[in-house]
Amino acid sequence: MIPLIVSGLLFGAIASSIARQKGRGEVLWFVLGFVLHLFGLVVLFLPPVCKSGITKKCTACAEIVKAEANVCRYCGKDLIAVGGEEVS
Ligand SMILES: [Zn+2]
Repeated sequence: MIPLIVSGLLFGAIASSIARQKGRGEVLWFVLGFVLHLFGLVVLFLPPVCKSGITKKCTACAEIVKAEANVCRYCGKDLIAVGGEEVS
């Protein structure tokens, strides 16, 4: 049997890692994963948010990708030119 605190840390780490990829609050989702365990992984089913400086929207397929990405991971479009075009 895994102590609750260990599995809480595990789920917290997973949830915050997923949240980071989606541009959501890492700390918030770590806490939710820690407290809610498996239910904290509901972040998996939430859509990514477009957060200026963290993520940007691909101009070709409209998927959310990391701001540092040079190539869209969904459609392969070159994203270097669209770096600073986010709407604030
Ligand atoms: Zn794309």
